[in-house]
Amino acid sequence: MHRLNTIFLAGTLLSGALAAPVHAQTVHEASVRGHVEVLAGPGLRGRESASADEAAAAAFVGAMFRGYGLHTAPGMTGYTQTADIVVRKLTGPALLTANGAPVAAPLLIASAGQPVTGKLTVFAGTDPAKVPAADVVIVTDTSVNPLRVAGSLDPAKVKLVIVRATPDVQAYFQRIGGAPRLPRSFKGEAPNPRTTVVALADAAFDALAQRPDADIALTLPGLVEEPRVTTNAIGWLPGTDPAAGVLLLSAHLDHFGVRPDGKIMYGANDDASGTAAVIELAKALAQGKRMRRGVLFVAYGSEEAGGFGARKFIQNPPVPLEQIVANLEIEMIGQQDPKLPAGTMMMTGFDRSTFGETLKAHGALVTSDPYPEQNFFQRSDNYALAEKGIVAHTVSGWAVVPTYHTPEDTVDRLDLPFMTRAIQSLVAPLRSLANSRAKPEWKPGGKPTAE
Ligand SMILES: [Zn+2]
Repeated sequence: MHRLNTIFLAGTLLSGALAAPVHAQTVHEASVRGHVEVLAGPGLRGRESASADEAAAAAFVGAMFRGYGLHTAPGMTGYTQTADIVVRKLTGPALLTANGAPVAAPLLIASAGQPVTGKLTVFAGTDPAKVPAADVVIVTDTSVNPLRVAGSLDPAKVKLVIVRATPDVQAYFQRIGGAPRLPRSFKGEAPNPRTTVVALADAAFDALAQRPDADIALTLPGLVEEPRVTTNAIGWLPGTDPAAGVLLLSAHLDHFGVRPDGKIMYGANDDASGTAAVIELAKALAQGKRMRRGVLFVAYGSEEAGGFGARKFIQNPPVPLEQIVANLEIEMIGQQDPKLPAGTMMMTGFDRSTFGETLKAHGALVTSDPYPEQNFFQRSDNYALAEKGIVAHTVSGWAVVPTYHTPEDTVDRLDLPFMTRAIQSLVAPLRSLANSRAKPEWKPGGKPTAE
């Protein structure tokens, strides 16, 4: 029976090889569409980080892994991994005063969760490195988005930064859901310090900018701490050679859930598209001959809320991190970037290692990142692994797509034929790498150094 099957199969492959491309089509658009329609459909309500909807999304991904024949990862009894985290929320609006008098309508954008007092210092530049160490700083130059300055400050030097509520600042506030960002942390750990950010409308801003040395006080209403659980989905294909190392293919399954105004943030591109890719790669690589290296397939929770799923994975990896020879994170491959050659994805930090060129040489539709100034290499879950020395990159379609972090990031806006071809193009290169003895390596200067 086995022998007959083998002969029949070999004959089929041989005759097929004359007419068809070497690598058979294993990724189908209908299947890709099915995954994104579940993940970014109304049922999962935008897969809010560390919510029941996120857990349901992880259960779905885990069920797909199981169905395609993946194993549970070493040391695990199921296809999900959870972490306890603490979410903080304010019970009312913040109050800002200057010399004891209230300042009109302060918009709290990010908060450390603590009140702030101090003397006002005016900063007229745009270079965050030149902001003086002072408790409270008002940033008056708006020729660059003042949140860029605010977001790059050292919380040990500046406790509160006040910015003008420019259209960019207001758009950002909408994107984060119209509620201030407060620190989250793993249960039992203190949250990371952060600089509090307040935006003011023009009249209030201009009046305050004329009053250097004013005594500023930001008081907060009550702060509530809410216990939550974030969930990763993990599947495993064991390799034939335990000494050969492991490949890690990953995406993030969470997004922003339902905004305070009731709009669902579907996150079809960000990152239901990458999660669908990981599911499809699991299916494709589980078929056929067992590979030399093991492959871990992971969909992280809580990427959008600070990378908690990836950090949990790194703290409790199913295989020792030293065994991971490379990580490919797949993020936002749902649309093509008009700046890139048609049909290609970009790889962040392409020139930092040999990983991208190796995949490309084997047919992956990847090219270098046209937005080095955006620091995308540092802005996805790959970075936490890269910081540990693991060759880890992210592939994306259009990283600056206009629907980014808006309710318009929906399934009907995805370019499914592009996604399907892009995912398909990764199958043979990843299989080749999983069977190879060669490891991707950092190039000189490419490995991130601890900051
Ligand atoms: Zn995102």
